[in-house]
Amino acid sequence: MDRLQKMLRPQIASLKPYSSARDEYAVGEVSAASLTLLDANENALGSMLGEGLNRYPDPYQINLKREVGGLISVLPEYLFLGQGSDEAIDLLIRAFCEPKEDEILIFPPTYGMYEVSAAVNSVHTLEVPLNESFQLQVDEAKKTWTERTKLVFVCSPNNPTGNTVSREDIISLLESFPGYIVVDEAYIDFCEEKMILPLINQYDNLIVLRTFSKAWGLAGIRLGMAIAAPGVVRVLNSIKPPYNISTLTERAALRGMRFSVQKKKFVQIIIEERKRLSDSLLEARVVEKVYPSDANFILVRFSDGPRVYNTLKERGVIVRDRGSLPGLEHCLRITIGKKKDNDQLISIISAL
Ligand code: PMP
Repeated sequence: MDRLQKMLRPQIASLKPYSSARDEYAVGEVSAASLTLLDANENALGSMLGEGLNRYPDPYQINLKREVGGLISVLPEYLFLGQGSDEAIDLLIRAFCEPKEDEILIFPPTYGMYEVSAAVNSVHTLEVPLNESFQLQVDEAKKTWTERTKLVFVCSPNNPTGNTVSREDIISLLESFPGYIVVDEAYIDFCEEKMILPLINQYDNLIVLRTFSKAWGLAGIRLGMAIAAPGVVRVLNSIKPPYNISTLTERAALRGMRFSVQKKKFVQIIIEERKRLSDSLLEARVVEKVYPSDANFILVRFSDGPRVYNTLKERGVIVRDRGSLPGLEHCLRITIGKKKDNDQLISIISAL
């Protein structure tokens, strides 16, 4: 049996997926205007708003996948598009993990949704803490996972610590884990040279997550993706809600992707501001450590995290208090803002 068949929940392996009206006829491939569409119980008379909004979107996002695939150099059949990468995280857990029986493994402190999505699906989460340099404890992970562990989530750059994790460690996991390794590259546009995505053709158990919510500045359109072997993508497509990507999202993404020069500028400015903010904060009396970051945020340890958090809040500056996470006492996660936001933050913290 191949890996996919072995790892899938039996329920999903034998699922007869919902067949939507538009499955039978790929409207995206022909001019919709040349067809009389009486198949999907839409309002054929028209829409209150933009043209075409009375019609359901393409369930497989053929045009969008072609463009996104071109952007990241993968074939459309390796692409699953979701309502944010959060949707992909949830669907992966639902596809592979039998409720109350199977497990995922994470390396905390890390992005909270892996554990939340697992819990929502009654799936247990195994934890192998990152070491003091926020790197993976690979040997510990190998000792911890069981035959019921189906997915291992690795976040690189990691939220909230900001660092990328060692490529060799990820490869070691890929080579030894019988299930799937999900590498979340939400922040990879801020350190492209460290991407794991090109390994996708080498390892059939690699699944990479990406999103338009960070460097592209499109968090509001809710578009993320999983890049994986075509068999995995087919499974995700078979369990997603039929029209998960809206026409508005599709249009916005197609337009947004034309602005890759602007995206590069955003990334460059954010990286410059990250350095300026980090250097300035290091001068402040209340700052104990600014952790190195490959992302669009920095993790900072203060002498008294809650006090700094509250002072900032009183002044209308909202950051993320990560002090309750193991190993991150007194740490705040600060997103790199506009120059004037960063100046405001620096001036409040420097005065403490
Ligand atoms: N992965 C990581 C590491 C994140 O930090 C986030 C959002 N904060 C996501 C995934 C989810 O992103 P989205 O659903 O907006 O694509």
